[in-house]
Amino acid sequence: MDVYIKDIKKQEWEGKEVTLNGFVNSIRKGKNNSFLILRDPSGTLQCVSHASDKTFEDVNKITRESSVKITGSIKKDDRSEGGYELHITGIEIYSIAEPFPLKKGHKKVFLFDNRHLWIRSPKTTAIMKIRSTVFSAIHEFFISNGFYEIQSPSFVGGSVEGGATLFETNYFDKKAYLTQSWQLYAEAMVDSLWKIYTVAPSFRAEKSRTWRHLTEFWHAEAEMAFKTNEDAMDLEEKLIKYIIKEVIAKNEDELRLLKRDTKFLENVVNRPFLRMKYEEIIDLANKNGLKLEYGADLGADEERIITSKLDVPVFSINYPIALKPFYHKPDPKDPKHVLCSDLLAPEGYGEIIGGGQRVDDKETLLKRLKEEGLDEKNYEWYIDLRRYGAIPHSGFGLGVDRLVMWICKLPHIMYVVPFPRTPRRLNP
Ligand code: ATP
Ligand code: MG
Repeated sequence: MDVYIKDIKKQEWEGKEVTLNGFVNSIRKGKNNSFLILRDPSGTLQCVSHASDKTFEDVNKITRESSVKITGSIKKDDRSEGGYELHITGIEIYSIAEPFPLKKGHKKVFLFDNRHLWIRSPKTTAIMKIRSTVFSAIHEFFISNGFYEIQSPSFVGGSVEGGATLFETNYFDKKAYLTQSWQLYAEAMVDSLWKIYTVAPSFRAEKSRTWRHLTEFWHAEAEMAFKTNEDAMDLEEKLIKYIIKEVIAKNEDELRLLKRDTKFLENVVNRPFLRMKYEEIIDLANKNGLKLEYGADLGADEERIITSKLDVPVFSINYPIALKPFYHKPDPKDPKHVLCSDLLAPEGYGEIIGGGQRVDDKETLLKRLKEEGLDEKNYEWYIDLRRYGAIPHSGFGLGVDRLVMWICKLPHIMYVVPFPRTPRRLNP
């Protein structure tokens, strides 16, 4: 079995010999002793070599970020981080690193230019571990709630979220687009499987560059037959609480390293989420100094102000029809509004989920396509779904990167993606 640094920082390892692989996080060379901080995915460990040791000469050849295999005995030492130290008895050098270009205090652009090296830093490693927990929790949640995981294509012939953010690409002698959402396909697949979900990248040519927009993001989408907007909200709340609970249980060390207040997250798990109508959200925004009129769309800046004082997420419900794509179902009791909700994360983060009930009759769908200036001919197969046994159905899309950003309480979405894609960044 592989042994990691985290495992050996326990009493039963004291005095025992161990062999560890790792990278050299830093090294301090002295005349009598040299101290090397070894790093692996689980943490760091101080390793010492004394001038009298046969390893001393080799240890002093090592540079920062060199890769090594170290053997030594574990000793309790209250002065070193984690309370344990390793006395080096053997060392095998995989590779001596050239002078490492990353140092403390670099600007964000330089760090992202060197993302392939920066990715191994302890802070980024902690974020990626939390990200991993979030993805596995999403799968666990849906599968244990009776959903089927299913996939939709990434090359599509038409738009879902609107033309403005469509990425166009050549497709032999035709034009194709990169998918913005699985929505239209999900509505076909839901007729056969009834409860479905996917976790996949969505692509949007976001011209409004903000701290929460990527051009390629990970989208966890769900669709359910015979369910309402209310049902979708209930499930969203359960999903978010489940994910956060898993992160609290599995990533205590990482949350601590990121200085994330776990009490805040525990509170989110234990309290009901708020629910406010779109008009109430506009009022709340105006009470906080904004001057929004009814009908205003809410972007990153507005939602930052609306949610900055909240301590639990809020569902912003029933938007005016003009603010949502054509497939959202108008409220039969109030047809100027749609049966939908955005879930806004507290602490200024804003929208993490968009969801709602879908149009389920042909006449309304045709009317909505016309109102949006969309050509019926491009939606023939989608209209078919209302010709042959239409059913009430609802669903939602969670921006997984945005959720990770909020859970980690980071200032920009790029930090939570291994290799982020934005209008300005395509490399590395
Ligand atoms: P916004 O108004 O912030 O652009 P949206 O209304 O376009 O969001 P939806 O179409 O409802 O978003 O997509 C569902 C979810 O996908 C959003 O709630 C968000 O979490 C995520 N999302 C959408 N666009 C992006 C993006 N460009 N980068 C990262 N996540 C995104
Ligand atoms: Mg958008």
